Amino acid sequence: MMGYQPPPQESLFHYHVYLEDRVRADHPLRKVKEVVDFDFIYAEVKDVYGTTGNVSVPPPVILKLMFLLLFYNVRSERELMETLPERLDWLWFLGYGLDSSIPNHSVLSKARKRWGESVFRQFFERIVVQCVENRLVDGEKVFMDASLIDAHASNGSVINTGALKRYLNEGYQELERRLDEANVSERSGANGRHISTTDPDASVVRYAGGKSRLRYKTHRSIDALHEVITAVETTTGAVSEASRLASLVDAHTTNTGIQPEAVVADSQYGAIENLLICHDRNLRPHMPTVHARNKHTGSRKDIYPEEAFVYEESNDTYRCPAGKTLTRRAYHSHRHTTEYMAKKKDCKACELKDRCTRDNSGRSVQRAIRKDDLDAMYAITKSPEARRDLRTRQHCMERSYARSTRYGFDRARWRGLWKVAIQEYLICTIQNIQTLIRHIGRPVKAILCLAPIYDLKAMGYKCAMEFSIGKTA
Ligand code: SF4
Repeated sequence: MMGYQPPPQESLFHYHVYLEDRVRADHPLRKVKEVVDFDFIYAEVKDVYGTTGNVSVPPPVILKLMFLLLFYNVRSERELMETLPERLDWLWFLGYGLDSSIPNHSVLSKARKRWGESVFRQFFERIVVQCVENRLVDGEKVFMDASLIDAHASNGSVINTGALKRYLNEGYQELERRLDEANVSERSGANGRHISTTDPDASVVRYAGGKSRLRYKTHRSIDALHEVITAVETTTGAVSEASRLASLVDAHTTNTGIQPEAVVADSQYGAIENLLICHDRNLRPHMPTVHARNKHTGSRKDIYPEEAFVYEESNDTYRCPAGKTLTRRAYHSHRHTTEYMAKKKDCKACELKDRCTRDNSGRSVQRAIRKDDLDAMYAITKSPEARRDLRTRQHCMERSYARSTRYGFDRARWRGLWKVAIQEYLICTIQNIQTLIRHIGRPVKAILCLAPIYDLKAMGYKCAMEFSIGKTA
């Protein structure tokens, strides 16, 4: 017999509603709760709260709210709070009941301001340590890459700082204060003259021939074993990724406790300074170099490469393919090179000129100051291992950033560099927690991945299972 639903009759009270039972056993938030200790934040922020006055929302609840905001990519904090009473799983995750009062959305922005960026960095670092403790990080090779984040400001807010002083009068004092805070003088190029009045930290960046937009940049290092993000840095969009190689390696070493042996990156990182950093730190540079990338392009296309010129150490000169001498002309400290130049009259009269230079003042050749060190690094960049790592890097970095788009990484939620850095720390933390959840409790699978890396017998383990439980023979 078919049953008919009676007209809805609202119960005034609900008994036997136990949220623990309402959340399914394999709910993602249940796994997050098992893996992450949000209570660490009590100790981290206790100094920024007073001992009298209104009682705050507990810091772990605020951190969990920010986690939910990013994890479910909720459009705004207001929407998060409006949705919260309808979501039993969120209430359970926060430790709330059906009758709990929901905090005002403003507690999140106030907490960010009160806690600062460092608390979120510590949250990120704690999860990295947890990944290391669970043997999800190999640490031997650092894969790095950068990606742009659209700022939360429109292009219409960009003003020319030079023109502003002449034409603006009302509200100029306030704007000037913000421009001073943004350190306009430290910017260069177009960003030295243009600034956004709504988000002065963002810089105008054009990417892949597209339109110039206000942007930030995230710089990440990843461990290839399980794609754990081991270090992250957020900068304004105009900062070159090459300038962040050393700091990312340092952060990777600090966060994982493992000194890397190789850096795997694209040609943006392959500048001379970075190759010398790798040499000095005993790192293998597995990256295409700027030198190799530019070798047959632009003005260097179809002309003799620098290898065609022979260096004569006895008199510090070069000999060109026509047998003429190139003498030392200038030292370029920013490029770490010395420039050698042929005589103008030699090149003008030379039969090989069409294949050698398009410069009417003659051919020049650059010689690196630490050429031997650089040549050793160049040789490593061309090794089969470096080529193999570059292929791996392409997949794992793209996958990492593709996963981040689920959490809205490509658009800043908030304005100001430190707030965008908080967003990036939270997103990277979420990705690492997801990695922890995927691999924790499956030690055999993890060991299979680690087996080729560690010599288990040399470490005192009889088998992979003993290694997984930490029992030595
Ligand atoms: S163009 Fe100048 S540098 Fe080049 S081969 Fe001729 S003389 Fe030598």
